[in-house]
Amino acid sequence: MAKQFAVIGLGRFGLSIANKLYDSGQEVLGVDVNEERVEESTSFVTHSIIADATDEEALKSVGIRNFDTVIVAIGNDIQSSILSVLLLKESGVKKVIAKAINKLHGQVLKKVGADWVVFPERDMGIRVAHQLLSPNVLNFIELSKDYSVEEVRIPDSMTEKSLRKLDLRAKFNISVIAIRHKDEISISPSPDKIIEQGDILVVIGENEDLVKFANIK
Ligand code: ADP
Repeated sequence: MAKQFAVIGLGRFGLSIANKLYDSGQEVLGVDVNEERVEESTSFVTHSIIADATDEEALKSVGIRNFDTVIVAIGNDIQSSILSVLLLKESGVKKVIAKAINKLHGQVLKKVGADWVVFPERDMGIRVAHQLLSPNVLNFIELSKDYSVEEVRIPDSMTEKSLRKLDLRAKFNISVIAIRHKDEISISPSPDKIIEQGDILVVIGENEDLVKFANIK
């Protein structure tokens, strides 16, 4: 069954979340105080309405507490962002996700009850820098401060060899959890698996070791 999402603030960030959810078959209500933003959003959401998310009555009248998840994508107007998160949590919305534009804003959003605070600009900046430092890394997930999972393009020097021969666990202290070969993916590959040119390894390990591995030529 489709889940019900509401996205408050239909700027670039809010609209891109709303559009992705809507394209994946979810029900999405778009909310913005700005009439133009609401009009522009109509083909990207299930419904959209003009409303001020800092107005308790307006939130009540759209039945906001019946939504599974509400995303507060108001950025620059910090006061409105904080106030709407507070009202949403007080009205009983289970999951509220909010965008913060700086650290302090993020701390306050947490204090007023946001279940998940995202920092899109900061996080994208980190990803771009990461990509510049290790161009072979196509994607990564930080598991903790020290450990990550990465998708790494395999250097030519390592192709046509088996995983056993490459012995990445002993040489780099990392483990291969999957191999992507064109459109196929092998999970928990056998040690006899031969790595071919253009393959992508999904590896897990300590960040320092992953950097060493991703920078071999
Ligand atoms: P982005 O950087 O993602 O484009 P913006 O700050 O430009 O973000 O967009 C935020 C959106 O949130 C704007 O469309 C703005 O009209 C809307 N917004 C701001 N305050 C409220 C509010 N109180 N209720 C509903 N929408 C709001």
